Amino acid sequence: MTRSERPIPVPEDAEARRALAPVICYPNDALPRPDVSWMRTLRQGAIKTGEVLVPPRDARCFEVPAGHFFRITSVEGPQVGDLNIWNRNDLSERFYSGKTRALHGTHLTTGEQMWSSFPHLRPMATIVEDTLEWYGIDAFGGSVHDVIGTRCDPYTGNLLSGTQYHHCCHSNLTRALADHLDLPLAEAELAVHDVLNVFMCTGFTRDTGQYFMKASPVRPGDYLEFFAEIDLLGNLSACPGGDCSSEHSSDTAACFPLLVETFAPAEGDLKGWQSPARNEYDGTHGR
Ligand SMILES: [Zn+2]
Repeated sequence: MTRSERPIPVPEDAEARRALAPVICYPNDALPRPDVSWMRTLRQGAIKTGEVLVPPRDARCFEVPAGHFFRITSVEGPQVGDLNIWNRNDLSERFYSGKTRALHGTHLTTGEQMWSSFPHLRPMATIVEDTLEWYGIDAFGGSVHDVIGTRCDPYTGNLLSGTQYHHCCHSNLTRALADHLDLPLAEAELAVHDVLNVFMCTGFTRDTGQYFMKASPVRPGDYLEFFAEIDLLGNLSACPGGDCSSEHSSDTAACFPLLVETFAPAEGDLKGWQSPARNEYDGTHGR
């Protein structure tokens, strides 16, 4: 937070104003609750359909049909991942990190959902298992799987230190999407969006309000698993920050691969289930 050099007078009732209790912006009691126990039962009968190993400091795409599952697992060493998801049939519908944060809070865990951009605004994926759920919120205000960071990118590095680094998550996601859909890099770049920071441990400092990271508590074998609410195209980058204990946007940190596996429910088990409908706002905006 920047303070003005010219002191601003403090009003007499400053403390009274500060003491007012916060009001939750979006009380989410009215959000339709996903039936996680049904999803877990469905998962028990599911069979593995494929896997992708995301190399360190690089990204890979994967596809998950509606009603199937995908799991992201830490292998070999502590590593955080930057996840993008799109509607497989319409890239204009993509994960909306900011609205997901407004609905669920700064970090996601079991039973919470990744919401899509306007005008769709519907659940794209539901978290059904999180082996780091025990972490909670630590003494610094840190927690895991945030929707507050954007994704590390070469532009901010250039702005702050004049670098030309090519393996930030933004560039990794751009290359992987371009390769998967056979798009020019410039077109793929425009589809890359703010991420779910899988396994990353982050928060805001209490004194300055700055975004911080610290060593992720993830260990090999930990995983985060999702139920795909719609046909998904996923893209995961193994961040050059490794476990994000010191720095990112460089080749300094120890980095490890991340494993993505997909699973299909047993034949007939999805009977009667359908993807959530798009948001029902009429889109006329007062005209
Ligand atoms: Zn990154």
